This record gives sequence, structure tokens and C-alpha cells, in this order.
Amino acid sequence: MDSKTLTAVKFNCYASDAQLYVNKPSAIPEGVYKDLYAHENKLDPWEPVSGESFEKWKQERKEAWKSLAIEHGNVKPDGIEIPVVAQIPINGNTFMPFDCRSINEELNKEGIFYIMDCVVPGKTEFLLANIDKQYKVMDKDVFILGNEELVRSAFLSSSISGYYSSKFGLIYVRKRSIEDNCYILMSYVKQPSRFVLDEKEREFIAEALHANDIDCKMPFKDVARKVAPVVEKRAEGVVRHEVGHLKHMQDNNFESERILTNLSASHSDIKTINFMKALEDALADTHPEGRLRYYTSQKDKGSLYLVSLDMGIGLKEDSDRNQVLLFQSKLLNEYVPTFLKFTKNEDWVAMEKAIEKDYASNLKVAQTILEIEKMDRDPEYKLSIIKKNMIPALLK
Ligand SMILES: [Zn+2]
Repeated sequence: MDSKTLTAVKFNCYASDAQLYVNKPSAIPEGVYKDLYAHENKLDPWEPVSGESFEKWKQERKEAWKSLAIEHGNVKPDGIEIPVVAQIPINGNTFMPFDCRSINEELNKEGIFYIMDCVVPGKTEFLLANIDKQYKVMDKDVFILGNEELVRSAFLSSSISGYYSSKFGLIYVRKRSIEDNCYILMSYVKQPSRFVLDEKEREFIAEALHANDIDCKMPFKDVARKVAPVVEKRAEGVVRHEVGHLKHMQDNNFESERILTNLSASHSDIKTINFMKALEDALADTHPEGRLRYYTSQKDKGSLYLVSLDMGIGLKEDSDRNQVLLFQSKLLNEYVPTFLKFTKNEDWVAMEKAIEKDYASNLKVAQTILEIEKMDRDPEYKLSIIKKNMIPALLK
């Protein structure tokens, strides 16, 4: 890649970090600094970040952000705005940093993927990564990303491993974040006293990794080679999850964001929002082309365990689970008990049946919601029916 390209993206990335820092330093938790430091110093995912050199780096970074704000920032009523100014030079042409389509047209040829996105206001995110694999599903480009040249800190700290961007019409998956997650899971087993996990969860993690010939007790560097295939399979699963979502938008027009907007759901309707998200995710995963069916058809035990862990299955009822996961496990009311039996009997046929059943019943729920959406009544009334009739059934 053109070194000028990298320098320009780096500057914009830096400006975005600085803006977040000067306006809301508390929005950058310690973990983000550690991730950034590890990334810039190319540490292995299991290498600890602490000590004098890290503290020094952090102090210098904060000072540099402040000077950048003084130099480039504009004071506005809601904080200091540091414009993302640098245009992106690529092989003699220049592009605006948000013109991802044109930039990718150039960079993809060199095997590099670029994105600038603003998922959360005031937090511009950048990603510049090597493309490991590129293919199409349902006329959408899929990018499986490997080594990351550059990331905005928000990316590092977030759990985003895969994503469908409706703005850019493509799916991308960050293998790096899946890989990091593998080592985090292993450390849960290695140092049980450091993490609040219940026994069953630790057992699932060990079992999941064991299915891929990984012994959690071994040193990280000795299993590094074995982690790669686990990451491959999980990356494919992330794509399948997104495909499940896309299919539902296409075939059933079930799109929670649109429906919630039409029903004028506000931020205070957090339960309804979480319910819709959970329903959408449950449908995506159990769809005939979704993630759970994919793993069962492949008889991929390790990935099935890991994805079940992601869904919070195996946790104690009173665990501090987020509401979306809680709803999701209630919506997958065939899958959850069948999976728990599966951990003992490995009955693949029962798993397939359970997933099919959950899909059918959740599809009915989605269709009912779509009918309610179409009713000739005011949005508040329609929203109230969903709240009254559908969510309490889950909380039983
Ligand atoms: Zn999803």
C-alpha cells in the first residue's frame, strides 16, 4: 500500500480519537488504551499490557491528543470538533475519507479493505485491513479480514467481529477480534479465580476448544497454530448470521429497525427494542441458511458450543445477562434444552429438529408483528399490543 495512504488514514484516525478524548475522556476506558497499545506495538493477543512503558505511552498519547485539539479543533456548543481533514491519496488520485466506495475500488485491488463509519455519533471509526478472502453471497460482497493495519480505538474495544453495513451494502468480518475472543475464552479456563464464571460455562469453553484439539491448559503460544481453523469456522458463522438477517429482510420484510420506527417506539421502550432485536437474531441464526443450521449440517461441535456460549446458554438463570440474550434464549425454547442434552448425547438429528421448530414458531411471531404493523390504527396502539401480548409471554 502507498505509504501516503496509510499516513492520511492514520491522521484521520488520530483526529477522531482526539475528538473523543477531549470531549469525553471517560468514554475511553482503560481497556481501550491497552488494546491500542497492544495494536501499535504488535503484541500477541495473549501478551499482557501494563508497566512503565505503557503508562508513559498513555500519558504521551493524551498530551498529543490535547495539542491536536488546540491546533485543529473548532469549539462548538456540544464540544470541540476536530475535522477529519486529510484527503486520502491513492496512487496519484485523492479521495474524500468518507468516500469508502471509491477508496475500496482502488484498495481492494491491492487486497486491502477500508471503512470509515460513524455508528455512534461523535465516534468515527476507521478500519484498514488485509483481505484474507472475498466472495459474494446474495449479490453482497463479503470480506473476511485478516491482519489489521489500522483501527480506530472504538473498533478495538467493541466486540464487532462481523457486520452487515446497509450503507455500503457489504458484509465484513474481522478475524482479529474473533481470534482475540478465543484467547479470552482460554484465559477464563486458565485462571478461574480471576473471572466470575460459573462451572458449566467453563466446562463448555473447554469442551468447545477441545473439539478443535486445543487444550486450554497449554501455554497460549503453543496453541496459536490451532486457533486459526477455529477462527475460520467462526468467521464463516458470522457471515451466515448476517445472511440470515438479509434473507429475512428480503423474504419477509422483517426489519426491526423499520418496524420500531413505524410504531414510533422511543428509547424508553427498551424492552420492546430488545425483544425485537432478540427475535431478529433468533430468526437469523435458525434460518435454513443461518448460522445454527450451518454448524449442525457441518457437524461442527466446537463452533456450536461457542455460538451457544455467545447466546448465554449454560449460564445460571440469575446471571447478569443482557436482556437481548435473555429474550433470545426464551425464543429458542426448543434449541436451549436440546443443546443442553446434546452436550451429553451428541444427538445431531435432535438439534436439527429443534432449530427447525424454533424457526417455525419465531417466524409466526414475526408475521404477527408484521400484521400488527399493517393495522389501520395509530402507532401507539399497535406498539401497546406488542408490549402487552408478546413480551410477557417470554417472561413467564
Ligand atoms: Zn444479528
